[in-house]
Amino acid sequence: MAEQSEQRKIENVIIVGGGPAGYTAALYTARANLEPLVFEGFQWGGQLQNTTEVENYPGYPEGIMGPEMMSQFRAQAERFGTRFVTDDVDRVELSDGGVQKVFLGDEEHRAKTVILAMGAEPKRLGVPGEMELGGRGVSTCGVCDGAFFKDQKVLVIGGGDSAMEDSIFISKFASELKVVTRRDQFRASKIMLDRAREKDNIEFRNPLEPLEFVAGESGKLAKVRFRNVETGAEEEIETDGAFVAIGHVPKSEIVRDQVDTDEDGYIVTEAGSTRTNLGGVFAVGDVVDHTYRQAVTAAGTGCMGALDAERYLRDADVPVEAHWMPGGEPAEIATGG
Ligand code: NAP
Repeated sequence: MAEQSEQRKIENVIIVGGGPAGYTAALYTARANLEPLVFEGFQWGGQLQNTTEVENYPGYPEGIMGPEMMSQFRAQAERFGTRFVTDDVDRVELSDGGVQKVFLGDEEHRAKTVILAMGAEPKRLGVPGEMELGGRGVSTCGVCDGAFFKDQKVLVIGGGDSAMEDSIFISKFASELKVVTRRDQFRASKIMLDRAREKDNIEFRNPLEPLEFVAGESGKLAKVRFRNVETGAEEEIETDGAFVAIGHVPKSEIVRDQVDTDEDGYIVTEAGSTRTNLGGVFAVGDVVDHTYRQAVTAAGTGCMGALDAERYLRDADVPVEAHWMPGGEPAEIATGG
């Protein structure tokens, strides 16, 4: 075992995830003198790291670039003593009320509480141009980017509630909006579908399967190539913007067989709290939330997770010695718990 992990330190709180939820949990636990340790991921910053301008986070009247906002969240947490590990956690061993273990390779980190804030990621189509034109016409977040397409032509790809919600929102700005689905059946609820159908500037196109996002001379998206699923014929649709709204996937792989998750993999928490089914394990942000998924709501639940962890540390008697590892020396408990 590495020299560093022989320090026999049991952290008060480990936070897994470096998006708005994780950094807010870090800020609050740091200000409570809990000396949080954050595994922020190799690509720290979460989904906002892939966003351009953020205009809907309160407190930034002029808007702010997503990566810059995440740098500021991080700096604010750091100011109060948060420590960061800029790497992806390989695995965890969660316990119900005991010591929580987080592993980077063979390196083991122990804590009395863990706040899971791994976030979610939009599902991708996996076709050429999709990633390359991200921020240059292709987006996965209607609420974030819809307003940038005022009086322009837009496509929304997907036929579930996410696609309908995005379409209804973006139709306030776009001049023409086409909802493109690969089948003539929709997964969206009737009410959402009806609302989208009522909009004069929304048209439905199917059964078209996306093949490629194509840039124009400016380097921005100019058209999307589709294949008609019934006839096999190819078709191009010219557009200024394309929103891929085919669902989200919670990044819960490392905990899925240890903590309660729902059928889609979202971590289940008690209503009105961030408590999971395991004592000392809390979950916040988009890894829990399949409804709101906004930076501001994620930050809000990050705060809740920090307060729940703080209360747990105050009230629960975590039997750290019982879990102690080789060497037989008493564990050093981080102060403030
Ligand atoms: P969803 O219901 O699974 O719908 C995904 C859509 O994307 C389907 O039309 C699917 O087509 C299509 N799709 C998936 N992969 C595709 C691909 N490779 N190429 C083309 N199309 C593809 O996902 P969702 O809309 O994100 O909804 C997820 C859950 O969140 C649902 O329970 C929903 O009700 C809920 N939600 C609720 C609200 C709300 O109430 N305001 C808003 C958003 C989400 P196929 O049908 O052909 O598979």
